[in-house]
Amino acid sequence: MATNSSSNQGDRVSTKEQNQTPQAHEIIDVQQVDCCIVGGGPAGVVLSLLLARQGISVMLLEAHRDFDRDFRGDTLQPSAMEIMAEMGLADRLLELPHTKLHSITLRAPDGSVIFSPSFNHLKTHYPYVTVMPQVRFLDFIVGEAKQYPNFQLILGANVQELVEEDSVIRGVQYRGHGGWHEVRAQVTIGADGRHSRLRDLAGLEAVQTSAPMDVLWFRLPRLPEDAEGLNGRIGQGRMTVLLDRGEQWQIAYVIPKGGYQQVRAAGLETLRQNIVEILPEFKERVQQLQDWQQIAFLSVESSYVRRWYRSGLLLIGDAAHVMSPVGGVGINYAIQDAVAAANHLSQPLKNQQVQVSHLAAVQRQRQLPTRFIQAFQSFIQQNLIKSALNNQTFQPPALLKLPILRDIPPRIIGFGLFPPHVQC
Ligand SMILES: Cc1cc2nc3c(=O)[nH]c(=O)nc-3n(C[C@H](O)[C@H](O)[C@H](O)COP(=O)(O)OP(=O)(O)OC[C@H]3O[C@@H](n4cnc5c(N)ncnc54)[C@H](O)[C@@H]3O)c2cc1C
Repeated sequence: MATNSSSNQGDRVSTKEQNQTPQAHEIIDVQQVDCCIVGGGPAGVVLSLLLARQGISVMLLEAHRDFDRDFRGDTLQPSAMEIMAEMGLADRLLELPHTKLHSITLRAPDGSVIFSPSFNHLKTHYPYVTVMPQVRFLDFIVGEAKQYPNFQLILGANVQELVEEDSVIRGVQYRGHGGWHEVRAQVTIGADGRHSRLRDLAGLEAVQTSAPMDVLWFRLPRLPEDAEGLNGRIGQGRMTVLLDRGEQWQIAYVIPKGGYQQVRAAGLETLRQNIVEILPEFKERVQQLQDWQQIAFLSVESSYVRRWYRSGLLLIGDAAHVMSPVGGVGINYAIQDAVAAANHLSQPLKNQQVQVSHLAAVQRQRQLPTRFIQAFQSFIQQNLIKSALNNQTFQPPALLKLPILRDIPPRIIGFGLFPPHVQC
């Protein structure tokens, strides 16, 4: 069983370290590239590859020393797989170990089905959610990018400063091997996730939207006789989501916003009992939760920045719009942002003529889809999850049983609005 910090806040890079930033520091070396991408999550790695394969010089800076971080989401939605196919990578990606989820089934604690939208009817070569440990996906994409000599990856590079001249962002400074380094670039991309340092440094403020829940994540064994796929269980004032990962279930246990300390104070035995109330078939297996280290806490957030760019700088992925985990779409949107950014920026980068208007075009294309999915997530949170936590019965709108309307939820989750296509 993997162990995890009990206060997992996603991919926050130590603020303690950041706050210790000296006012003046000696720069060991300065490098010049076309595009400096900060953050090796789905957004950063996909954009790196899309630019590198066009001969654009790219430096990808990642604070951690590897890509192996647990409980960050392992779901690739159909549109992400279509993007992989457009890049000529889908077949090889699907050779890596993965599972396919063809439907999402929401059940009552007695196991009866409340709602079960299916991806099978979607018009795509990939009518399922591909579940693959995120580290495998990131390693795969970075492995592709490494084939291009104009791509550089620096791990353990903790970006802490922007280089700004005459109100134009010219690059970044990071603390890494041996001390401080500077990277200068035509464009700097902030793909540094939900706690984006670049967003803060650039003064691009995030607007919080409501998220009435937090989530505990843990893993328990999956038995051959268990259901398959993605299963939600709702009732008795509780909600869980179970993600099929072959021999294990990855389980999200939803708690009210701010309720974590109360859960901790009540103790592990109470938590185990509460889990069994909603998942009675886990009575034996739940005993394997013996330590809070096995349970990762996610403070659910949802936010967006009004302006994704400044001259020389563009935010994409969670840095521009933190996604709630509802629907497991954050990776999809991060990858879609990367595609839109590559489409708009490749030619200007090659011509050495990136204008603010090119950066603005990325936001224009992606803002509505991201705000739309956040509104959808908020609707689910307010109706389904809140009613579950308040011990009310949830019934999906009857209209969604009509064949003509039944594909709307899987379509929204699988593709979203206006999914971009690779044009470069
Ligand atoms: C617990 C949890 C579960 C989730 N489950 C799902 C799911 O099932 N499906 C789904 O689609 N989405 C899920 N998400 C959301 C999903 O992980 C994000 O939406 C997605 O990863 C965003 O991708 P990104 O590339 O924008 O940012 P991230 O994946 O957050 O990557 C940002 C990267 O930037 C690096 N970084 C940060 N600061 C610096 C710095 N100063 N210098 C250098 N590097 C830096 C980080 O180390 C990180 O690698 C989950 C999120 C969490 C926290």
